Amino acid sequence: MKKIIILGATGSVGKSTFNVVRRNPDKFQIVGASAHSNFSDLKKLASEFKIPFLFNTKEKNIENFSDFVKQCEPDIILNAITGFAGLEYSMEILKNKVPLALANKESLVAGGEILMQLSREMKMPILPVDSEHSAIFQCLLNSSNFSENRSNSFNKILLTCSGGPFYGKTNDELQNVTRENALAHPNWSMGAKISIDSATLANKCLEFFEAMHLFNASKDQVEIVIHRESIVHSMVEFPDSSVIAQLSPPTMELPIAFALNFPDRLDCDISRQSFKNLDLSFREPDKKVFRTLEILEVCAENMQNYPIVFNAANEVVVAEFLAGKIKFIDIFDKLAQVIDGVKLETVDSVEKIFEIDEGARKVTREILSK
Ligand code: NDP
Ligand code: MG
Repeated sequence: MKKIIILGATGSVGKSTFNVVRRNPDKFQIVGASAHSNFSDLKKLASEFKIPFLFNTKEKNIENFSDFVKQCEPDIILNAITGFAGLEYSMEILKNKVPLALANKESLVAGGEILMQLSREMKMPILPVDSEHSAIFQCLLNSSNFSENRSNSFNKILLTCSGGPFYGKTNDELQNVTRENALAHPNWSMGAKISIDSATLANKCLEFFEAMHLFNASKDQVEIVIHRESIVHSMVEFPDSSVIAQLSPPTMELPIAFALNFPDRLDCDISRQSFKNLDLSFREPDKKVFRTLEILEVCAENMQNYPIVFNAANEVVVAEFLAGKIKFIDIFDKLAQVIDGVKLETVDSVEKIFEIDEGARKVTREILSK
């Protein structure tokens, strides 16, 4: 039995994790879980799954978290909190010497090299839960030249992207799309923030940074490929020109189960991919419509504070869009304005990350109020 803590248990990834545990009651025991605004929902789940310890992230703060972890004695912790708020939990998990199953991509986007360094120092792995990164991880594990120094073992990561609900639309057609249109992802059911990020392709930008850090890849070693069917979850090209891909039906249950049960695969009761009459397509993304990708190029060229600013600005503009205060198309303009004003700064401490994040939120709010 693996003892797990689920952070962000009331969210979309949290729900999928409960499904994994429901299907595998002999493999996993949930020893702890957290919620933020929906703590009463968590209490219901706690009685179904007999979870002994609960953590209310709204009432408690990060100083209390270490005691909670010690109380639970987990074998692994899944961080499925949404947004930058997840970073301090990722750091604490590693400091407590517990393996981190990471869905909260913002932790790596903002925490970057500092979080990776902490993982190495503590000798605690970061196991990717984001489906693309789980796919890349699986491709690398299956390559014969997989090594600790992963940067030399592959040529290129092909990061697949569904294209979201607005794939193929022109700038004119995006003028009047609504919140509901943007939330309606064709292949995945997810939380509100990541659903909007999938519609703007900001999610792919965050995943680009996530891949650079997790797999020690340069910006030229990551390429975004539109793949509408969401069956190939990413691919890796090797020096001999072989490309290895990971395929499965689009369900988060697979990457969650893979991370939680690593290094063994579970015999999952998940629907199988049929290959009878299956068409798979791959296209280049349209940077002129999905301008987040042009902004990504600027950020990836500079790194350091840029991804932190991108993430913070994106969280602020997405919240504004979800509140009905700006149009969908404004998200691109506001992000571009924030990034235009950024000056390169070295990120050499956790305090610096928090300072940059806070400053970027302030600048974004000022731009939004004009
Ligand atoms: P949801 O919005 O569905 O859930 C977020 C969870 O985080 C909830 O449990 C929520 O608690 C909690 N939470 C919200 N704000 C805070 C805070 N300030 N501090 C602590 N906890 C907080 O998100 P998703 O499940 O969709 O996504 C979670 C993470 O996983 C994100 O980083 C996302 O990018 C990533 N991810 C998600 C995928 C998906 O399929 N959904 C796929 C790949 C990655 P409460 O409900 O109680 O307020
Ligand atoms: Mg993903």
